[in-house]
Amino acid sequence: MTTDLQQLLEFASLNPGILSVTLSQMALFHQLASLHRRDIILTLHARTNINEPPTHLSPSLNLFLSGACELTPDETRLCWLLLRHKIWDTSDVQASDPAQLRSIHRIHGDPIGLTYTALYPPNLFCYTPGCRRSQILITKAMQRKAVIYTLSDGVVPTYHIHMYCEHCKTGYHNNFYVRNGRRFYYTNPVPEYLQVGTHHFAERRLVKLWTAQLLYSRTSAFHCAQIYNYALKNSPSMDPDWGVSPTVRCEEVSDAFTLLSLLEDCEHRNTVLEVAHTGLQKDRFTAAVQARDEYFEQLLGI
Ligand SMILES: [Zn+2]
Repeated sequence: MTTDLQQLLEFASLNPGILSVTLSQMALFHQLASLHRRDIILTLHARTNINEPPTHLSPSLNLFLSGACELTPDETRLCWLLLRHKIWDTSDVQASDPAQLRSIHRIHGDPIGLTYTALYPPNLFCYTPGCRRSQILITKAMQRKAVIYTLSDGVVPTYHIHMYCEHCKTGYHNNFYVRNGRRFYYTNPVPEYLQVGTHHFAERRLVKLWTAQLLYSRTSAFHCAQIYNYALKNSPSMDPDWGVSPTVRCEEVSDAFTLLSLLEDCEHRNTVLEVAHTGLQKDRFTAAVQARDEYFEQLLGI
């Protein structure tokens, strides 16, 4: 149950329209709205106090929740007013039925730019010391379609949201931030989904599997990709017209392996992975791999 009975009765005495909403609709509303807190925050004014939930949702969120939960616009408004503090204060909600939620998103979310999984930067405010956006929400955002290769759910559609601090010219992505042409990866913690191409991400668990295949069964990156595409890439929740290829390429397997090994090494040593943001992808990690190898050679006295 998403709220206690006394609160519900008090709310219903003032807002009798809520009585036509079933408990299962409220539970679904709570799950869906909780999933989209970052999307809600993105619609707020830069100086909003985000410790308090907004009193109104944006038209697109209202449209999505109304359609997904089969609520009238007034019922949607009342559900938000009743549940908004619960939704705001609850830490990550475990989806009761992820397949059902993915299906709901395909019907009601995809057409208006809302996916079950959205890849935001980890921060709401600018990290740069002294930047005035370190106290004010970053609101400049750009989103692009992408897919995530996952182990359990095949290939799933997503939006990758890139935020930009126009004050200190820092770009924030899901895996890293960019300043002065340099890319700084987050390593504490290592992201759950690793970016392996402009529009492609790979779940960390899957990259661990690829790593095991490469190291312990001498499977080539090409064959890791072939195995995934043959056995694991089914994508029932993905619109065939999504516009991003769901097929893994061997270069992505190689990059994912290299990136995860570098990130885990940095995580272990409490350092940051810094590489060039521009240039060719095939050259991006060469210097970092060389530096890592030299470190281990020194450590082992080779
Ligand atoms: Zn800034």
